[in-house]
Amino acid sequence: MNCQDCLERLDRYVDRELTDAEIEEVKRHLVDCPPCEDHFRLQVHLKRLVKVCCDQGGAPAHLRAKLRQILF
Ligand SMILES: [Zn+2]
Repeated sequence: MNCQDCLERLDRYVDRELTDAEIEEVKRHLVDCPPCEDHFRLQVHLKRLVKVCCDQGGAPAHLRAKLRQILF
């Protein structure tokens, strides 16, 4: 897996929407790749913020799209 693949899957990785095999691949990549790990931490952090802002309801689709633009 390269960084591009990793970043493309990161959002679904955080949401636990990947298959077990994909999760393993992302995990392996993050261990070896500090820049991607930074993205991962930021993503987790942002999701937590969004959750708080939206009162546990999750972010609306347009806001998620916006966050993704900011991140990548
Ligand atoms: Zn990477």
